[in-house]
Amino acid sequence: MTKEEGNHRFRFFTSDLQVKLLEKSFLEMELRQALDNKQFSLHYQPQIDLATGLIKGLEALARWEHPERGFIAPNRFIPIAEENGFILQLGAWVLRQACRQAKAWQDKGFLPLRISVNVSMRQFIQPAFVEDVKKILAETGLDPAYLNLEITESMMSDVQQCQPKLIELQQAGISVSIDDFGTGYSSLLYLSKFPISHLKIDQAFIGELSKENSMIVKAIIDLAKNLNLNVIAEGVETSEQENFLKELKCDEVQGYYYAKPMPWNEVEKFLNRT
Ligand code: C2E
Ligand code: MG
Ligand code: MG
Ligand code: MG
Repeated sequence: MTKEEGNHRFRFFTSDLQVKLLEKSFLEMELRQALDNKQFSLHYQPQIDLATGLIKGLEALARWEHPERGFIAPNRFIPIAEENGFILQLGAWVLRQACRQAKAWQDKGFLPLRISVNVSMRQFIQPAFVEDVKKILAETGLDPAYLNLEITESMMSDVQQCQPKLIELQQAGISVSIDDFGTGYSSLLYLSKFPISHLKIDQAFIGELSKENSMIVKAIIDLAKNLNLNVIAEGVETSEQENFLKELKCDEVQGYYYAKPMPWNEVEKFLNRT
């Protein structure tokens, strides 16, 4: 740039941290408009019964397609949405969209499948959370038996808060899974006390099946079986991983080895061919 231009410009000191903060504040501003501008969609990833190969469920995963930046990963926008509270609106949208889609597939004659929806801490602790979920089910007409909510271990730390909520969900016929199991540093006490349907082994353990990780995976599967919980291994990418999980009689698997998360129309092709 010329000397004159330089004199009229602000000189940003662009440390990595500043770039990140700037980027974050852009995303934060744009997130709010993104919902109105229909930039969010859901992709669905099959959860497969390991023994039979039959598809048991679909996990709904939020996608944000920014008009200039392209797809922005949930690991970038979900934490921001949780921080600024936008997750409440986004979470309600995801839930409604997932239930609506599941019902539409049933109405089209596809075999009814469980639909799993990720719920963030901030959503889950809302006093009206269970009521809101029930309203969405009533509104979309989806049978609660087909809805599964994925929550994380860290949300179980407040037993007083959690237990009544989980019981209320169970009474409404809605099942709950523990996502990213094994990474949450929480007491395991809740596992025997709370109504939970599935443990999802975090993909970090499956992705690198070292001797240590293999032992952890085995221990989680044993624990799940002893507590009468179903267990899903996440992030399965290879036949070696599959074989290992088959030996341990893991119930369900989810990962790129079987299918990536897909938009609804690709899910239909996938269901037609399986
Ligand atoms: P998650 O719930 O544990 O979802 C699994 C993530 O693993 C997804 O990433 C999925 O695309 C990815 N994955 C599946 N199979 C494989 C595999 O074989 N290899 C590898 N490397 N990855 C695999 P995604 O879609 O980027 O989502 C990341 C996280 O963002 C989710 O982790 C979940 O915690 C959060 N998230 C996504 N959608 C929502 C949502 O609607 N609401 C909330 N609260 N969180 C969401
Ligand atoms: Mg999940
Ligand atoms: Mg997970
Ligand atoms: Mg995760």
